[in-house]
Formats: sequence, C-alpha cells, structure tokens
Amino acid sequence: MIYQRSSQLFAEAEKVIPGGVNSPVRAFKSVGGTPIFIKEAKGPYLYDEDGNRYIDYINSWGPMILGHAYEPVVNAIVERAKKGTSFGAPTALETEIAALAVSMVPNIDKIRFVNSGTEACMSAVRLARGFTNREKIIKFAGCYHGHSDSFLIQAGSGAVTFGSPNSPGVTQGTAKDTLLATYNDLQNVNDLFTANPNEIAAIIIEPVAGNMGCIPPAEGFLEALRELCDVNGTLLIFDEVMTGFRLAKGGAQELYNVKADIVAFGKVIGGGLPVGAFAARNEIMNYLAPVGPVYQAGTLSGNPLAMAAGLEMLKALNNDAAIFERLEEKTAYLENGIRKILEAKNIGYTINRMGSMISVHFDANPVTDFKSAAKGDNETFKKFFHGLLNEGVYIAPSAYETWFITDALMYDDLDFTLNAIDKVASAL
Ligand SMILES: *Cc1c(COP(=O)(O)O)cnc(C)c1O
Repeated sequence: MIYQRSSQLFAEAEKVIPGGVNSPVRAFKSVGGTPIFIKEAKGPYLYDEDGNRYIDYINSWGPMILGHAYEPVVNAIVERAKKGTSFGAPTALETEIAALAVSMVPNIDKIRFVNSGTEACMSAVRLARGFTNREKIIKFAGCYHGHSDSFLIQAGSGAVTFGSPNSPGVTQGTAKDTLLATYNDLQNVNDLFTANPNEIAAIIIEPVAGNMGCIPPAEGFLEALRELCDVNGTLLIFDEVMTGFRLAKGGAQELYNVKADIVAFGKVIGGGLPVGAFAARNEIMNYLAPVGPVYQAGTLSGNPLAMAAGLEMLKALNNDAAIFERLEEKTAYLENGIRKILEAKNIGYTINRMGSMISVHFDANPVTDFKSAAKGDNETFKKFFHGLLNEGVYIAPSAYETWFITDALMYDDLDFTLNAIDKVASAL
C-alpha cells in the first residue's frame, strides 16, 4: 500500500498539533510508522487519503457498532442541524434519549448527559464522593477511565500504599486519594478496605476491561466487589463507556446481573458524536445540582446534534432483538478462525473475548490483569499490526487495545480478514 498523502498530511499536522494528533494513541507510537489519515468511511470500511480501503476493527474505539455513516444516524444529524446546532437551553430531545436510556439499562432512574467518557467518569466520582462524604477511590491498574487527574495514577511503592501520579501535572495531593488495585484480585481489594476503613467513597471499574486488551472479570469477581461495597458503605461505579449498549442493551450490569450504584457511559451512546453520560438511582442522582449540592455543568451538554445521533443509535439497538446475538456470532466466528490459524502456525497466543470485544495477545499464558497483559510480545504485535494494515485490515495500533466488532461486517469481510491474518501470521 502507498501512504504518500497520509505521510505528507502527518508532517503538516505535526507542525501545528502536538504529535500531529488530538489523542495520543492515534500517532502509532507503540507500533512505529506514521498514522493513516482517514478521508471517509462507510459500513465496515475506512478509506484513507491515498485511496486505500481497510476493514475497520477500531470503529472509532467502539461507537460505530452499526458501521460507519449509518444512515438513520446521519439523517438525524442533518435534519437537526438545519434547525440550529446549540441553544444552551433544554430540548425535548434530551428527555427522549434519557427516557430511552433509562428504559434500556437496569438500576438507573435518572441520567445526566455530558460530552465525553472522561467527563462522565470524572463526574461519577465527584458525585460518589459528595454522596458518601468520603475522599478515596479504588481503581484497577490497566483500567482506563479517561484522562482526568484522579485516574492518571500508577502503583505506589507497595500494594497497599497510595498511588503516585503517572503524568506530570497530576499532583501528589490528588494521587493520594486514588488507591490502585489489581484486576481480578479480590484479596488486594479487601486489603485496601482494611487499610482505609470508612474512607473509600467508590470503587470504579470497567466491568469487562477493554483498555489492556479485553479482560473479562473472573467468575464471581464483580459480585464480590458488590458485596464489599455494601459492607463498607462504598459506591460501586461501573465504567460502561466501552461495554454500555455493546455487550447487551443494559450493558455489563445486565450481562452479569450485578447492580452498580453509578454507571458511566460514552462511545456507543453518542452514535459517533462526542457524548458521555452518567446515571444512577434517584437517591444518588438527586445529589446533583441543581437539586442537590454536587456541582456539574456543561455549555454543550445535551447538544441537539449529539442527542439526535445518540437517540437514533439507541433506538436502532433497542428495536433490533437479535443485534447482540449477531455481534456475538460474528465475533465468535472471527475468534475461532484466528485460533485455528495461530495454532496451525505454532504461535504462542491468548485470545480474550466477551461479546463483540476481542483481543489477541502474543503470549500463551492467561491474560487476567495488567501485568499479564504486559507480557505480550510487542515486537510480534508490531509485525502483526503493520502486516494487517498492508493487507487492508485496520486494528488498533497498540497491543493494549480491544478490537470492536461492528454489525456492518459481513461474513465475506470476516473471511477476508482471516485470509489476511493467515498470510501475515506466516511471516511472524
Ligand atoms: C474511552 C473510555 C473512556 C474515556 O472516554 P473519552 O470519551 O475518550 O473521554 C473512559 N472509560 C472507558 C472504559 C473507555 O473505554
């Protein structure tokens, strides 16, 4: 493939945008090379500025669950745009999407819309702190909850000590309120509660982790966290920015039948426009301004274009009884195909999958937490990534990312992908 125009565009972008990108992973840093610049997309396909076509397994990191330029969403945006793009005053549309979301997701009475998953998680934590009148939170290493200060924390010196900032600009003061735990390690979470009695406002977790590859929760793990939270007067926050409206209508709460106290959304809920949201039962949501004391606001929150896109997306998912089954079947087909190929070629691997989230790790040992995810062979991944790109298959440019399967993929596309993987794997 020729990437001449993409390379030129990247060079120009680097002059006026830090690293040439508006979000770091897009820069291809961990796989090398220069990013491809996208010109347009339709269904399961991306087209770059050099005219190359790719089957897309990123799908904007999840939102395009029904494919790119999905017509009902595009039409809704266009029609709304003609009537004005922002008012900073309430619209009927906001109530309509809120009511639909509340009807689809278990255990929530009210929902507040924001502009990104970051904002949703940040606000969920503030609400949990306000509601419990406590300051500390537990997060899991390798889980991503957006780039707000409280979440940019790495392990401190010991497993039961405070976290420390993992980005300059995050203060020690902030870091000391985030306790870091190991995913799927219940004893570790228990120890944190013991060391910080009556101090923990919330546990925030990706109920199926998707930001260190895909890592499903161990059997009983989410249930045990629920119980620990109940015993300790701590709120359980499910960050369903990735899993919400993807694993099931009601997300991971529905799939695992575990109740969260606060749920954060993003990605699919915006139909491809910048939207996040957080939701909870009345008792908690009524703690928010203007009815309650916890402040949260947004000039463009509930933006009519974004709400129109999100509403069409949620309607499409809600009205299609077989959507999540189809996604499951397509992703299982892909998984089985990749397993056969890698086994035939004797390549050490682990594939993790939950519904339409799947990740391929180049390590034969189970991947259950951040440490085991980090053991994957990055040199092999780099070759795999660039090989696939060259064959017209676009997966995430990092070994720590999940592939997101879209319903726009047909079995011909999956077979095309498996052929490409077979070819690339032969050269690994
Ligand atoms: C993407 C993501 C976020 C952050 O959402 P943004 O819209 O990028 O701010 C938060 N949590 C999870 C689980 C995510 O996957």
